[in-house]
Amino acid sequence: MAQKQWVYGFGGGESAGDASMKALLGGKGANLAEMSKLGLPVPPGFTITTEVCTEFYENKRTYPAELAAQVDAAMAVLEKKAGKGFGDASNPLLVSVRSGSRASMPGMMDTVLNLGLNDETVEGLAKLSGDARFAYDSYRRFIQMYSDVVLELEHGEFEEILGSQKDLQGYSSDTEMTAEDWKAVVKEYKRAVERQLGKPFPSDPKDQLWGAVGAVFASWMNDRAIFYRKHNNIPESWGTAVNVQAMVFGNMGETSATGVAFTRDPSTGAKKFYGEFLINAQGEDVVAGIRTPRALTKAARLEMKETGESLEEAMPAVFAELVAVYQKLEAHYRDMQDLEFTVERDKLYMLQTRNGKRTAKAALKIAVDMVGEGLITTDEAVLRVDAAALDQLLHPTIADGYTRDIICRGLPASPGAAVGIVVFDPDEAERLAADRQKVILVREETSPEDIHGMHASQAIVTARGGMTSHAAVVARGMGRPCVSGAGDIRINMKAGEFTAGGRVVKRGETITVDGSAGHVLFGAAQMVEPELTGDFATVMTWADAARRLKVRTNADTPHDADVAVKFGAEGIGLCRTEHMFFDAQRIASVRKMIVAETQGARIKALDELFPHQRADFVAIFKAMGGRPVTIRFLDPPLHEFLPHSEEDIAEVAPSLGVTADWLSSRVKALAESNPMLGFRGCRLAIVFPEIYDMQARAVFEAACDVAEQGAAPIPEIMIPFAITKKELEILKGRIDAIAGEVFGKRGRKLDYLVGTMIELPRAALRAGEIAELAEFFSFGTNDLTQATLGVSRDDAGRFLGTYVERQVLTSDPFVSIDADGVGELVRLACERGRATRQGLKLGICGEHGGDPASIAFFERAGLDYVSCSPYRVPIARLAAAQAALARKG
Ligand code: ADP
Ligand code: MG
Ligand code: MG
Repeated sequence: MAQKQWVYGFGGGESAGDASMKALLGGKGANLAEMSKLGLPVPPGFTITTEVCTEFYENKRTYPAELAAQVDAAMAVLEKKAGKGFGDASNPLLVSVRSGSRASMPGMMDTVLNLGLNDETVEGLAKLSGDARFAYDSYRRFIQMYSDVVLELEHGEFEEILGSQKDLQGYSSDTEMTAEDWKAVVKEYKRAVERQLGKPFPSDPKDQLWGAVGAVFASWMNDRAIFYRKHNNIPESWGTAVNVQAMVFGNMGETSATGVAFTRDPSTGAKKFYGEFLINAQGEDVVAGIRTPRALTKAARLEMKETGESLEEAMPAVFAELVAVYQKLEAHYRDMQDLEFTVERDKLYMLQTRNGKRTAKAALKIAVDMVGEGLITTDEAVLRVDAAALDQLLHPTIADGYTRDIICRGLPASPGAAVGIVVFDPDEAERLAADRQKVILVREETSPEDIHGMHASQAIVTARGGMTSHAAVVARGMGRPCVSGAGDIRINMKAGEFTAGGRVVKRGETITVDGSAGHVLFGAAQMVEPELTGDFATVMTWADAARRLKVRTNADTPHDADVAVKFGAEGIGLCRTEHMFFDAQRIASVRKMIVAETQGARIKALDELFPHQRADFVAIFKAMGGRPVTIRFLDPPLHEFLPHSEEDIAEVAPSLGVTADWLSSRVKALAESNPMLGFRGCRLAIVFPEIYDMQARAVFEAACDVAEQGAAPIPEIMIPFAITKKELEILKGRIDAIAGEVFGKRGRKLDYLVGTMIELPRAALRAGEIAELAEFFSFGTNDLTQATLGVSRDDAGRFLGTYVERQVLTSDPFVSIDADGVGELVRLACERGRATRQGLKLGICGEHGGDPASIAFFERAGLDYVSCSPYRVPIARLAAAQAALARKG
């Protein structure tokens, strides 16, 4: 059998891989290979495939047998391309070891630079570069990084060692350190390692390499990586690749530099080259926020009123080459690119390219611009925008006329505005958010350990860091507003407060963050509703042209209906009538109806409710114009409307004209041990038919009222919680009779439908006969998920997280539909229903109706529409279009 290829070389004029091989080589490796194929200056290297990672975890953390030999061979080729020897004291090859999974996971995996240095090779590097200071600086960086990432040692001691060397010499900054100083620091570093580790720092470059490779694979399973995967639906089985690449040095003096760039502005989408760099720096210095990076272009420098020279001014030839490279890359990938580059003694090297992360606003603008530039088609534009990310644009922003009480200013790192209370600790942010508190995380700067707290926050503020800092990149990805580099902020953790401009803000106080303007404001600012205009509206028209599924909304009030129609809803898929009964005025009548002991008393209470219910439907029909409105008749267990504590009962009893004792015994009599599976839904109407009779009469009277005013209402009455055809037979019979009666009296005949929710497994299984009577099905996927999995949504918190973490379930079934289980019932019910009644209208009205992954499933299942909350309607429109395009292939 032919040996499996575990290692792929790239750079120096030939590459075994290319951009299409992301699954095998990871995003970084595939793009490094592609860039070198394009003839761009990429330092040579090789990629150890993601399959090695998968094998590693499948085989108790051991490598495939042939791996070592393949790595040796690849290293030999790399040495030849680089013209240096790995571990060669006179002409040493140094490498970086970088992780890279299929989907980019920023900051999740740790890169080791300058690997291959030891007491001998450092001398070689000093000679070759003619710069001993540089060589020993690189060496100490390597020991520090390797000890942190690979050996996982405490790094506090390293900082102390460096600090005391500086004190000893009376230096105030690292730049004053000489070669001899760094040499002394290296010696102390190595001593510290040996003390902590119990054995010396590995000096053999080969040992160093395998240590780093192992650490990359191990980091695939660290908490940060697991958390990121969980929140981005990245399967654990994908694994990460490892890239080993010849080092180039951005820290070889004033003619060297390192930087990051975006081919368009990732925050606004504006078509301008955008980025930051540092002279005489290496690796993550730019994003670490230790030195403040400078703008790439002169225009950006002037705009930001910076004094330090831009790259364009400092290194015009390199800048021109970088511009040519970025234009080539953007045209080649036909998408906005996020680049990393290093300049070693005036020579440009490309270290990374990938499709850049962007805000939803930028995504829309870039998609529309690229269609205009003829780079992509409108269908491609639709596929380019992350549907879930549109959520960023569907939230309120600060009202124009609002007078801002600005605490401090920073960089507009991630757009949108949010209000919340100040917290400083990510764990606390998570805790408070779990208690439904809206929090804003204020930090010096953030690191990957803080991700859970960032996720739990409405917005993030950092005192340090630039537009490409960790906080900025992660916040943009999560769609959280972020202000970074708010330099005035001084955080005092002990006192639980921060100060800025002489003012003090305490933990727990309310602030507003405007990530679009870079403002942090006192108090809760006045917000305005979002609008669907400009590029957003343009992409929506392209989406509408591409989609097959209709999009409706779940709306119980005319206000919700208005919002949804503005966002493009084509009807109401779920109007829950019970919400109409909680109103202070009506609840008394509802309670009378519930506690009634005779039919007469019940009917009397229902008569009180009737005019209100009729007015509700008139308002909803009007708001929806001639669009269909699915009205679900009363569904929840009745006890939900009753008072429960002794005090509440005592308070309510007089208004019902009964004694507290009597009411208390009625409440007890109505109590159920499992109300969600109890006396609810159409079961109520089978036992007390007069409830649905009242609702049906209100619907038909309202429809006639509205029709008399010239509108064309389309009522669709939906019976909840049915399990048999017989229930429908009884209830539909009564509804049709009432329709006939009302229409006769009013002298007009209107179209209406009577259908049912499919939310219990039995209903899905018996869909064939239920469809003999039901004129439409609407899948109530919340209840259907609970009933199919036997998992109560309210009690799932204790174990569902672990289930998803351990991949017992691939994702939370209440967020994305369980396609294999619940989905199977949906498919079956569609098939059986349509076999009975051709053209049976099929929809879904659970939470899943606004979830892109679930919408893709409903598209494949052949439903007619999805229904979701008003603010998710644009997300559903786009997701439906993407699902349709994906099917076309
Ligand atoms: P991340 O995935 O977090 O961006 P990278 O693997 O891209 O991590 O590495 C981080 C940084 O290390 C890069 O931006 C680059 O500046 C530096 N780096 C990586 N490999 C090399 C190399 N071969 N030569 C010089 N710098 C490198
Ligand atoms: Mg990178
Ligand atoms: Mg239900």
